[in-house]
Amino acid sequence: MTVAWLGIGANLGDARQTLKDAVVCLAQQHTLTVLAKSSLYRTAPVDAGGDDYLNCVVKLETRLSAHELLALCQRVEHHFGRERPFRNAPRTLDIDILLYGDAVIDEPDLSVPHPRMTGRAFVLVPAVEIDADLEIPGRGPASAFLAAVADQRIEKVKPMCQCMGSAPVAAAPAAAADNGNNIANNAGAGSAGEPGMPPDPAPGRTCR
Ligand code: AMP
Repeated sequence: MTVAWLGIGANLGDARQTLKDAVVCLAQQHTLTVLAKSSLYRTAPVDAGGDDYLNCVVKLETRLSAHELLALCQRVEHHFGRERPFRNAPRTLDIDILLYGDAVIDEPDLSVPHPRMTGRAFVLVPAVEIDADLEIPGRGPASAFLAAVADQRIEKVKPMCQCMGSAPVAAAPAAAADNGNNIANNAGAGSAGEPGMPPDPAPGRTCR
């Protein structure tokens, strides 16, 4: 098993719903286990045009090889209608492999650690939210790069779901470690639609 980190972003259509659906889609894959998901962040486009992005980072565990994981990410992007009319075009969904265990890969179709991750607040901030001690193989602590991206606009999106408010929640131990964006943990749990829980994803948007 290898622990891998994905950076996920969208700035076309209902970006917030797309990110949530994409995480559900990943969580439903039998070839991986989602270990953690960051909050959602609204961020200014970097090296790209268009509207603000919504971004998050997912930490997962998988038996897939790095290239198999890349192929899966590209299938999920395609499922959500990703097109590549030109480089850095606005996108319904973009999934990058940030880290794949300790691997350092430099191949034409795959570079890991992602070569631009240390210069992007929209990757560093959510990754450090999940693990303040995260190490980037060959480069050092992720947190050491935060100061250099402090001028990039990024703000945490308030979760729509308030089920983790101050009121006591009976029999919800799994939710205790969640940051409020608990779609991944709820995937397949049959909880959507219940009082106080997030609404069901738009029909047909998630993998079945
Ligand atoms: P993008 O348009 O940003 O989604 O870039 C997609 C291209 O980047 C694909 O051709 C991938 O093969 C390549 N690529 C290289 N390294 C990575 C990586 N770590 N994660 C995702 N795509 C990558």
